[in-house]
Amino acid sequence: MFKKNAQPHISVVAPIYNEEENILELFDRLFRTMESVGKSYEIIFVNDGSKDSSAQILEDIFQKHKETVRIIEFNNNYGQYIAVFAGFEHVRGQIIITLDADLQNPPEDIIKLLAKVDEGHDLVGGYREHRQDGWFRTHASKFVNGMRDKLTGLHMRDHGCMLRAYSRDITEQVIKTREAFTFITAMAQKFAKNPIDIPVKHSERKQGMSKYSLYKLIRIGFDLLTGFSLIPLQMFTLIGVFTSLLSGALVVYLVFRRIFIGPEVEGVFTLFALLFFMMSVLITGIGLIGEYVGRAYLSLCNHPRYVIRKIIEKRD
Ligand code: UDP
Ligand code: MG
Repeated sequence: MFKKNAQPHISVVAPIYNEEENILELFDRLFRTMESVGKSYEIIFVNDGSKDSSAQILEDIFQKHKETVRIIEFNNNYGQYIAVFAGFEHVRGQIIITLDADLQNPPEDIIKLLAKVDEGHDLVGGYREHRQDGWFRTHASKFVNGMRDKLTGLHMRDHGCMLRAYSRDITEQVIKTREAFTFITAMAQKFAKNPIDIPVKHSERKQGMSKYSLYKLIRIGFDLLTGFSLIPLQMFTLIGVFTSLLSGALVVYLVFRRIFIGPEVEGVFTLFALLFFMMSVLITGIGLIGEYVGRAYLSLCNHPRYVIRKIIEKRD
């Protein structure tokens, strides 16, 4: 028998965390878009430990579309990137599309991505042209994108936009990396031979809440910087050299002053200020080294990145 979903041409991967209000519309629009493309496809939903009724809704969809829908269910919440990563490990298609499940990335834009793939690009990144998030979120993200560009040398317009198309070669490379935290979009950019960025629409989140807190965003910034370059460490060494030179000069000055003018009694608080400053620089440095050591430690441990509770798919 011809197995429709054995080797589909396109795999769509969508991470799901508490998206009960969005899944039905998401699937409906995805389904219509993918049917209009006219190539074989599969849709992989990775349920990242949702606590609402997402699992049930997904299973209902599977019951109606067993040929095209596959569900990977985690035992716990591991985060959006790990969910996409698990999707990559299970795809069967040659072209892989990722998108958010909250409908901020319009599924219809997949057509635009596929057109660029047909032109020969192995990675098509969307960038959110008129971003519909709050002022702070939009600007913080611009800032992090700018830092990433300068410090890692990875040139892409918007690493936070998940509406992307990858060739299977790239996703295979990504899953081979044994890094502790995989920043998928940036990692894929590293492996791409002929990437391109195209503008995509961005809608306001219709239902539910963003799962990103300020803390999580800061963590992502750190992951990005320490995961792709040693420049932060090198800058730190430079700061160390610079401040040592300055304090060396200060010591020489104070020694001379003591000999020729006499001991200095005032300026105690200046001394405190200097000390506190040096100490905070030191603590930051230790934290930074900790980031790198932590990463190295976690990759050495080789812990599984996620645990799958079950996979729901048609078995032949
Ligand atoms: N998501 C996930 N696990 C998480 C957080 C989010 O799988 O721990 C999914 C979420 O369901 C959505 C996508 O990742 O499909 C983006 O999440 P969100 O909309 O909260 O992020 P934002 O749009 O605010 O960047
Ligand atoms: Mg969102």
